[in-house]
Amino acid sequence: MDPAILDRINRGILLRAGAYLANDHFLLPSGRHASEYVEKNLVSTEPAFTEGLGEVLAKRFAGDEVDVVLASGTGATLLGHAVARAHPSKPKLLYAVKSRGVKEKPEVVLLAEFEPSLTAGSRTLIVEDILTTGETIRALIRLVEARGGRVVGVGCLWNRDRQARFASPFFALVTKDFPTYRPEECPMCRQEIPLREPHEGPGSPGQGGGRARPRRKRT
Ligand SMILES: [Zn+2]
Repeated sequence: MDPAILDRINRGILLRAGAYLANDHFLLPSGRHASEYVEKNLVSTEPAFTEGLGEVLAKRFAGDEVDVVLASGTGATLLGHAVARAHPSKPKLLYAVKSRGVKEKPEVVLLAEFEPSLTAGSRTLIVEDILTTGETIRALIRLVEARGGRVVGVGCLWNRDRQARFASPFFALVTKDFPTYRPEECPMCRQEIPLREPHEGPGSPGQGGGRARPRRKRT
């Protein structure tokens, strides 16, 4: 895609949803530090914007017959809805719920109600919002293949791992990785910039849930 368009999407995410935070000092769930952060849950708060992104992803895979769009997680499923709505095959939208498999390996489970819609031969387009490690996508691919379906493609909004490779055609609207550091080698720590722990998941009243907040002292 034209780099100028990608840049516009990138800035769109930044401006419209406030989902992209930069020039700061964040503690990531992995324990590493970074100066940038994507607020995953804020990406799909602008319906018109989500629809526009879904249309671009659907267009990329418009040449493929698709029976099912499959996603996991609220943000990815909202985006998946927009992709399914815009795809010429008029596919169904299904979602899988995340769980932990053997040895804490991330797994996804299809709801029993959806099982008749994803069967042998189902041509499936997987949609993800933010690709960080690719584990969710790989789990979704395993789910489709275990049921005899075929993954025709993987569409993603933001790919944070340039090395990500899948057996099926893969397309990301934005590919932007940002460096992360071990605390002992972190340049922001050296500059004594206050460390913030991004707030994810259920907030509490008055806390401004969804925004980064100063790191709470752990006791
Ligand atoms: Zn640091």
